[in-house]
Amino acid sequence: MKKLRRLLFRILLIGLSVMAAIFAFNTYTFPSKQIKVEPVSPMEIGDAVIERLAAAVRIPTLSYEDHIDTAAFLDLDTFLWQSYPLVDSILQRETVNGFSFILKWQGQNSRLAPILLLGHMDVVGIENGGEGWSEQPFAGIQKDGYLWGRGTLDDKLAVCGLLEAVELLLSVDYAPQRTVYLAFGHDEEVGGEHGAASIAAIFKRRNIEFDFILDEGSLVVEHALPGCEPPVALIGLTEKGYVTIGLTANVESGGHSSMPGRASAINILSESIVALRDHPSPAKIEGSVKAMFEHIGPEMNLFNKIIFANIGWTKSLLIKQMSASPSSDAMLRTTIAPTIMSSGFKDNVIPTQAQAQVNCRILPGESVETTLAYIRSVVDERVTVSLGENSQATEPAPISGTGTFGYSILQTTAREIFPDAIVAPSLVVATTDARHYIDVSENIYRFVPIKVARPQVGGIHGINEKINVEEYKNTIRFYRQLILNACK
Ligand SMILES: [Zn+2]
Repeated sequence: MKKLRRLLFRILLIGLSVMAAIFAFNTYTFPSKQIKVEPVSPMEIGDAVIERLAAAVRIPTLSYEDHIDTAAFLDLDTFLWQSYPLVDSILQRETVNGFSFILKWQGQNSRLAPILLLGHMDVVGIENGGEGWSEQPFAGIQKDGYLWGRGTLDDKLAVCGLLEAVELLLSVDYAPQRTVYLAFGHDEEVGGEHGAASIAAIFKRRNIEFDFILDEGSLVVEHALPGCEPPVALIGLTEKGYVTIGLTANVESGGHSSMPGRASAINILSESIVALRDHPSPAKIEGSVKAMFEHIGPEMNLFNKIIFANIGWTKSLLIKQMSASPSSDAMLRTTIAPTIMSSGFKDNVIPTQAQAQVNCRILPGESVETTLAYIRSVVDERVTVSLGENSQATEPAPISGTGTFGYSILQTTAREIFPDAIVAPSLVVATTDARHYIDVSENIYRFVPIKVARPQVGGIHGINEKINVEEYKNTIRFYRQLILNACK
């Protein structure tokens, strides 16, 4: 007996040592994917750029499902071309559907494929009349080193930042070898049909194909993951799909509310909604998220490095950790969020029907179809699952490569302008205008060159949206350097 125990102990010890050796080997051979570049010395940029962005923020260019605030968009139109006179006089400008713009900066070498840099001019509204905001959302106030207001991060910094960069280059008579297009939509926040989709259709009709496209998306985030010290410039390679799915529970008779049965339409539907919360769709570490871990992992502290280098063994631990926060959980799975629920018409009548809508963000690799099937497998069989009328179903975008000219230019530029940051591919969990452009380029990247602390990301569509004014100057430096790097 004693002998057997000793043998088992020895086997266990050997097993553990082998595992430790594998872990150590994987960790030791987990290579850094960061490229070495010389940081460029920051170009002097004055405070007038902040004033111009503040002025753009003061124009409340709101877009709604069925209309836009046309007067505000016309004001912005006038403001932009007055503020950037060289862009106005040298670039070719085309207005699309009244309010969106295409700007073309002709390159010297027509053999080089053009690039396209995107932004959107519309912003989302303010809830509860601005309650909870420290500064008025459309006042464009500068305080404590920040510019406050709706649109500062999403996405007027890209529109103004790009125009500043081009204006700077024009002011020194720079002429790009490659043609540079800029395009600014006016309805991104409500789907982009009249802006981005129409602009993309124009490019397609003209057979213009871009070497790469850059749109908004991930940012340069400080403390992006626990255990990761340097800020991470996250370059979105793809974005999740979008669909709203309708759930309807029907029962034959409701009965009287003085003698309720257990299976009312409201009960059945509610239980199904709870079941969807308790059974989220399966978590996966694949594609752009796997690539993100492979880039961030080698730069982490030793403990986390061991975890990321041995993902085959530590996957479930990592999934558990990431699932704890909604923002990282959203990178791992198709999310299903109930957003609308309705039933009943009188307080003492049990209704025979109850309806809900769930908004789903689909992980690349899955689809509208697989999402419908998953929901059907979870909810009560008495619940009908169907695509809502205005479901705006969009499949997840294709995944752009990291071995391309576009990615390497973005990576180089990010390292030059944000020398303390590492660069990693990423998945954008929200939707952007970029998804409309998949027919005019295979290489679409989603990245906003602004360094933010993690909580600041919550300002996008939320309260207290703001940007650090000194960091905004780096946004402009990034766009300028990007054009220089891409158009040599
Ligand atoms: Zn946006």
